[in-house]
Amino acid sequence: MQYANNILETIGNTPLVKLNKLTEELPCLVLSKYETFNPGNSVKDRMALQMIEDAEADGRLKPGGTIIEGTSGNTGMGLALAAIIKGYKCIFVMADKQSKEKVDILKAVGAEVVVCPTAVEPEDPRSYYSVSKRLSTEIENSWYVNQYDNPSNAKAHYQSTGPEIWKQTEGKITHFVVGVGTGGTISGVGKYLKEQNPDIKVWGIDTYGSVFKKYHETGVFDENEIYPYVTEGIGEDILPKNVDFDIIDGFTKVTDKDAAVYTQRLSKEEGMFLGNSAGAAIKGVLQLKEHFTKDDVVVVLFHDHGSRYVGKMFNDDWMREKGYIE
Ligand code: PMP
Repeated sequence: MQYANNILETIGNTPLVKLNKLTEELPCLVLSKYETFNPGNSVKDRMALQMIEDAEADGRLKPGGTIIEGTSGNTGMGLALAAIIKGYKCIFVMADKQSKEKVDILKAVGAEVVVCPTAVEPEDPRSYYSVSKRLSTEIENSWYVNQYDNPSNAKAHYQSTGPEIWKQTEGKITHFVVGVGTGGTISGVGKYLKEQNPDIKVWGIDTYGSVFKKYHETGVFDENEIYPYVTEGIGEDILPKNVDFDIIDGFTKVTDKDAAVYTQRLSKEEGMFLGNSAGAAIKGVLQLKEHFTKDDVVVVLFHDHGSRYVGKMFNDDWMREKGYIE
């Protein structure tokens, strides 16, 4: 009989799927690392499990403990699944711009969710960074995950996502393109791939309202780059330790409108029902067109599933209200 001993054993080994219609204008092969096949429907299952297992190993997380994290949903789902199997409690702190579906889904897997205002400085005591830190000092036998600075985040991608992509492309990958939030995915995968072949180019997708692109190009943390934006999952108003700027060749910024429109197009034209950062990522690949030639093999990573965005990017009333469609 072929079976997994529990749901955590099904994490990883996701397929690589060719893009066809949306990439017609590009000269090269474009393959997507299709992370919604993970049990929590996102790439984050990988790093959630790695962070928990590393914390168990060195005693930061003890039996019966409470896991606390500031998460936009996907990391929370990964942590919650592992917590159920391993017997921990979870409290997640989220910003109020995140979709209601994401909150409901986390509650459905047994987590407690605390919602905080989006439009405050990270240092503000009401911000989700501050609230998560405070809860972890107040609650006994708790562990604050901190996916932004936790090295197990990038390590998960260095040990699993990167090697899978290298093997699946038989070492033929020339470019890796991915949205950047905590930076774990780009840094872990990018480091592994460049160790195999230093000629591989690694591109990050950023949003308007985030600091990454400007910081990468100038070394300046420019607060003028920070303003509220709609795109979910990528871009930051801080510099997480997990972003390894040295392994990134460049960033391209995608607008909220393009990210939303391309999220719909992936679904309607490729049958790929995916989250908002996948729309941003594929539009970013198209924006990078001039960097690609005929024999290139571009791998773009799609982080999460469309079901979490049915009230937003997949709702035409919402799209019209935002002025993204006529
Ligand atoms: N897309 C989505 C939907 C996400 O939840 C995240 C994580 N914030 C990202 C992209 C960015 O991935 P990473 O944190 O590994 O940079």
